[in-house]
Amino acid sequence: MSKILIIGCGGVASVAIQKCAKCADTFTEICIASRTKSKCDALKEKIEKEYAARENSDAAKAIITTEAVDADNVDELIALINKVQPGVVLNLALPYQDLTIMDACLACGVDYIDTANYEAEDTEDPKWRAIYEKRCEEKGFTAYFDYSWQWAYKEKFEQAGITALLGSGFDPGVTSVFSAYALKHYFDEIHYIDILDCNGGDHGYPFATNFNPEINLREVSANGSYWEDGHWVETKPMEIKREYDFAQVGRKDMYLLHHEEIESLAQNIPGVKRIRFFMTFGQSYLTHMKCLENVGMLRTDPVMFEGREIVPIQFLKALLPDPASLGPRTVGKTNIGCIFTGVKDGKEKSIYIYNVCDHQECYKELGSQAISYTTGVPAMIGAKLVLEGIWKRPGVFNVEEFDPDPFMEALKEYGLPWVVEEHPALVE
Ligand code: NDP
Repeated sequence: MSKILIIGCGGVASVAIQKCAKCADTFTEICIASRTKSKCDALKEKIEKEYAARENSDAAKAIITTEAVDADNVDELIALINKVQPGVVLNLALPYQDLTIMDACLACGVDYIDTANYEAEDTEDPKWRAIYEKRCEEKGFTAYFDYSWQWAYKEKFEQAGITALLGSGFDPGVTSVFSAYALKHYFDEIHYIDILDCNGGDHGYPFATNFNPEINLREVSANGSYWEDGHWVETKPMEIKREYDFAQVGRKDMYLLHHEEIESLAQNIPGVKRIRFFMTFGQSYLTHMKCLENVGMLRTDPVMFEGREIVPIQFLKALLPDPASLGPRTVGKTNIGCIFTGVKDGKEKSIYIYNVCDHQECYKELGSQAISYTTGVPAMIGAKLVLEGIWKRPGVFNVEEFDPDPFMEALKEYGLPWVVEEHPALVE
């Protein structure tokens, strides 16, 4: 019997949970636990209705249970894990909860999987800030998130004999596995990696984010950075702009961002000389974001309002459309992948590995838009590989540290087929 505990029940979790439910030979029991239990109950009901609709099918059906949990509270998490007794815990709450959930997994001896690296919720906390400022100086990038917090658990996970699989979403996640796959099958050495994240979808709102607005806006309004010749090069936000013609989407402007998989790939792809990450944005999105930033709506520290403290970015989240609700409105496609340049048998070559995902197809299948879909599917695959013992090793690992082949096969099987293009157009 293989039981999974999934923490969080937002856009990404909704996809991962529905995919786990369709894969009931592996996930015989699914416990959905989140802050707002009614969301877990609603999803359970939706899935069970679908099970009922295929009454006569002999396909396996997972048992689904729901729980309320505050994932900021380690004792609550430990009590939950002890009650549920899962084989793995899949963290699809927010990056703020990574460390509390890892602590609880350690205490209970259960494997851990997530899709985003740790980020502090209160970036004004002096204790956190002192460590952050030291890291900025030592490493040379100023993003609020980095892997040092979670990599610090390596020895503890090794000693406990359990696995932590970090970054099993699309980017990080699939892009990292693409890198390991390219190295295994196409190159002797990879020198340049350009990760291109293109969302050609249109939801019809003047402004909305495709995943959690707070995490998304913090990421895209920060300084950009890339890895070159063994060190970080930091840029102003949106300082580096390029244009690229994406298959099935067309020409788009894209901007260089700091992104977390650059940090782990720089360690795990030997001989790599440069890694950059670009994301497409339309001018209207950038104008809205700049305006919100200029008026202080992206601030993450509390301000007094009518006698009580509010955090502006959290208030903004309450005003913006819920990313999980964008599914029915979003049309168009995403194209996310990596261009690799390196050497094979002494000759220089380039390949482009990418996936194209259609927002409306995702909506038809699971009621979600493609951003949640492209993250939720690899989260399920990561959990499946750990639970089945295929990607299981004591310690803390990024996805590119495991054999990429079973993950790449599973991507095709579970809805994210990929393409390898030889001689792609390069990004200057
Ligand atoms: P949502 O905001 O839609 O969902 C987050 C869920 O976590 C909600 O159900 C929320 O509960 C729950 N939650 C938040 N805080 C707590 C808490 N303290 N205790 C228990 N539950 C909590 O986010 P998304 O689904 O868009 O994103 C989920 C994760 O996926 C994020 O970490 C995000 O960074 C990551 N991600 C990764 C990507 C990748 O490619 N690697 C791409 C996109 C996202 P409530 O309903 O009460 O708010």
